[in-house]
Amino acid sequence: MSHVFHRHLKHSYPTAVGGEGPYLIDAQGKRYLDACGGAAVSCLGHSDADVIEAVRDQVGRLAYAHSSFFTTEPMEALADFLVERAPEGLSSVYFVSGGSEAVEAALKLARQYYIERGEPQRRHLIARRQSYHGNTLGALATGGNAWRRQQFEPLLVEVSHVSPCYAYRDQAPGETPEAYGERLAAELEAEIQRLGPENVMAFVAEPVVGATLGAVPAVPGYFRRVREICDRHGILLILDEVMCGMGRTGTLLAAEQEGVTADLVTIAKGLGAGYQPIGATLVSERIRAAIAEGSGFFQHGHTYIGHATACAAALAVQRAVEERGLLDRVVRLGEGLQQRLEVRFGDHPHVGDIRGRGLFRGLELVAERDAKTPFDPERKLHAAVKRAAMDEGLMCYPMGGTLDGRRGDHILLAPPFILDDAQLDEIVDKLDAALARVLTHS
Ligand code: PMP
Repeated sequence: MSHVFHRHLKHSYPTAVGGEGPYLIDAQGKRYLDACGGAAVSCLGHSDADVIEAVRDQVGRLAYAHSSFFTTEPMEALADFLVERAPEGLSSVYFVSGGSEAVEAALKLARQYYIERGEPQRRHLIARRQSYHGNTLGALATGGNAWRRQQFEPLLVEVSHVSPCYAYRDQAPGETPEAYGERLAAELEAEIQRLGPENVMAFVAEPVVGATLGAVPAVPGYFRRVREICDRHGILLILDEVMCGMGRTGTLLAAEQEGVTADLVTIAKGLGAGYQPIGATLVSERIRAAIAEGSGFFQHGHTYIGHATACAAALAVQRAVEERGLLDRVVRLGEGLQQRLEVRFGDHPHVGDIRGRGLFRGLELVAERDAKTPFDPERKLHAAVKRAAMDEGLMCYPMGGTLDGRRGDHILLAPPFILDDAQLDEIVDKLDAALARVLTHS
């Protein structure tokens, strides 16, 4: 019996022993094409020689120094790198070990900002239903994923949830994308009014919704309207780019494509590409300045913030993405993947929608296409797809439908940026074979 407290205690897992580019290899020598980067993490693929060398070099010199005593060269260099490339206004970086911690830091920075400004009554958060912001209690409370929240509900702070931007299901027949975005903006505005604008701290959203909806971007103009509303009421905008950021959609931050800059941006996953656990919160100058000129101390912290080896790994990853021109590749490969998915599954009776941006794509599975009827969540179709795909030698990231039937099962694809065209074909072929096995009897 394994003594590891595994994610699923009733499953057994193949043992991963190696990685080569976009493939993972198990102890039996079976190869799996990593079409989801784990969970949108492995953007450079596995065993990248430059990153390995950077990690080796940093561990050899200084693996770790506690941030209450020292700063380190890799932490300073990574912050410089990120700020130089971030949209104007984001002027500093708070380093943590993953996405949930980045969200927790963003929430606490927002809270402290208003305390420094003498507005301590601002404590309400507004986020969106069908969103995921992490599994620690603050991040879980922020997310609107009913399934993940369900049993922990009594432990969660109160957060208002408004509708996500989910055109496939929620844009009304005959409604233009602009009118739909406007309707959602009005819903946000109404919630702010209900809470009292002077009591609201921040609005939190994923620019492209990952784990809970399956690579769903907003309609054009939605985030610009959200930004205007936040500004009008002095509310901070927190964009969670843990999954969709760091090049996954073809720009370093997905929100660049919306023409919007947030006050706080969370990043993780692709930042370290899995070579080390690392996340970060990008902080706007006005928040940094309010705290620097006020108490001068952010009342927060973890043992591993700014871990030197993690920062060295992330810097090597980000340099590789830039120097190898991988963002352009993400755009090109992303279009190629979307096109292949449409050719193969465009008329599939159980594929309702094929969507996404860059190398961040989702397929929504439906029992009946025209009515967009989801499969019964009890059937756990997503789990069967995952098993069938693993049998085929493909890693994809399927998620179950929502408890309220508001969304079907979906499959998220987020492969490494280093794929070639033949590997795009391999993803589609293997996914097709896996779906055929699972859906034959539907
Ligand atoms: N925010 C988003 C948008 C995510 O997708 C995730 C992870 N799936 C998180 C936060 C939490 O990140 P982590 O699992 O690294 O804590």
